[in-house]
Amino acid sequence: MAHLPQAKSPEGVKEAGVAQIRKDYISIADYYTKIVNQDYMYCPKCGKFQSSKAYYSDDRFANKCFPICKECLLQMVERKKDKKDVSHESKETVKPVLQLLDLPYIDSLYQSCCTAVANDVSEKTKHPPFP
Ligand SMILES: [Zn+2]
Repeated sequence: MAHLPQAKSPEGVKEAGVAQIRKDYISIADYYTKIVNQDYMYCPKCGKFQSSKAYYSDDRFANKCFPICKECLLQMVERKKDKKDVSHESKETVKPVLQLLDLPYIDSLYQSCCTAVANDVSEKTKHPPFP
């Protein structure tokens, strides 16, 4: 479980003073209100509460969001680069995640995306025509 903002102990309240406590509790209340109102969704993989923007939309679920956050899904396809800046994404890592999302895997489409990205990257590494 990720860290959630906590209420202060009686000693902590004395130390911080009433004005500071009010300020702190407004932000804690705001955070918990977002959880209660389902403005924040819980990702069971990373244990974080995040706004719905952190999730892919998915009509199969009542709240229209896939229950695992984008960051965790991208980690599942291993797109997150390691220390050596190498991506381990491959057909084999992409397929099971697409299955989770109920999206079809189309080999030709995947290949054309890889080619498009590769072309895009090499374009950017070229020198501009007018230095
Ligand atoms: Zn997550």
